[in-house]
Amino acid sequence: MFSGYRCTRCGAVYPPDRQIYLCPRDGAVLDVTYDWKQLDPGAIQSSQERSMWRYLPLLPVSDPGLLATPLRRAGWTPIYALPALAQELGLDQVWIKDEGVNPTASFKDRASALVVVRASEIGASVIVTASTGNAGAALAGMAAAAGASAVIFAPAKALPAKVAQLLIYGARVFLIKGSYDDAVLLSQQAAEDFGWYCRNTAYNPFTIEGKKTAAYEMWEQLIADGHSPDAIFVPVGDGNIISGIHKGLRELHQLGWIERIPAIYGVQAEGAASIANAFLNQSETIEAVRANTLADGIAVDLPNDGYRALRAVTETGGAYLKVSDTEILSAVQRLGLAGIFAEPAGAAAFAGLRKALREVQITADQRVLVLNTGSGLKDIGAALRAVGEAPVIEANLTALKRAMEVID
Ligand SMILES: *Cc1c(COP(=O)(O)O)cnc(C)c1O
Ligand SMILES: [Zn+2]
Repeated sequence: MFSGYRCTRCGAVYPPDRQIYLCPRDGAVLDVTYDWKQLDPGAIQSSQERSMWRYLPLLPVSDPGLLATPLRRAGWTPIYALPALAQELGLDQVWIKDEGVNPTASFKDRASALVVVRASEIGASVIVTASTGNAGAALAGMAAAAGASAVIFAPAKALPAKVAQLLIYGARVFLIKGSYDDAVLLSQQAAEDFGWYCRNTAYNPFTIEGKKTAAYEMWEQLIADGHSPDAIFVPVGDGNIISGIHKGLRELHQLGWIERIPAIYGVQAEGAASIANAFLNQSETIEAVRANTLADGIAVDLPNDGYRALRAVTETGGAYLKVSDTEILSAVQRLGLAGIFAEPAGAAAFAGLRKALREVQITADQRVLVLNTGSGLKDIGAALRAVGEAPVIEANLTALKRAMEVID
């Protein structure tokens, strides 16, 4: 049962009926707390629900209702074994969990679905978020499915596919002359001024609760099956996904349902590596950068969930890695050859695994799970940069043969 909130910095606790974002004392992020008694893992494992909502007993909301809507379809994404890729990397086992198949095609659906259900429980009809694109698309889509209104603030440079999603789902969209971090600030001011419910990542304590369901799925899809991964690779922007994976695994450990927590590896783009920088300096002080990477989903100046994201790695014996845009594009291309089309931010995790192997942080006997957080259809410009354009030819055999000679 949802029992309240605890500040991640000062430890102050707040009751569950209080409508709250950050800790009123020190402005730190809040953890959602639970009081679990007599929870039966078997009841979850035998559930017929094939979405994140199979974990309702472990979530801070009641039944989402809305059967057979996109909101009800978030989560329960597939995990694929990739033996050819594992062999190429010299690893025992590589799995990928593909979040690109979520209803709006990114991991963010988990957080937005949960926040939309929470909004309906507290009677909030307008939900606002700042977003580089995916969080907004997810909120707009989930809100549309539930009949709520969404207001989205995104950088004017947001990718066309993501902006199209926002508009098609009927959100009110404002493109900001500025960065994602500027959009965050304005959205919070607007939320306060207009009395809107704010979904902002980590600012709203419920986003991580939706995201932790991916860890529960890893438990059911792999760990409970005797295939525990030794390491999990996660792309990191604000740090809310990696914190969610960590929280989900910690909760399963506290419940006694898993024996040990795998090492968690965070991967950031070189040009937006504030948390990785702190990790490499062995510091808990996360300093803002000016984000510069083509992986827009992780282009964050100052992360909103940096401390928890740092601890996800330090407490599990993992590490942070930085990858270049060139390495990210190469990862997009390699995953494509395995049948998985990832957007750059999603492919960053795989680029991080390759780097960890070169830097000898992962040994051959390890079993590794890599998260792809978004569909490649979100950013076809990056995809074409990774692989180049196809030749255009006359519609006859001679032209075909000439073109094939050039290619071969
Ligand atoms: C948001 C996002 C991330 C990063 O998640 P954070 O919680 O911000 O760390 C990674 N990949 C994609 C595709 C995203 O949209
Ligand atoms: Zn506090």
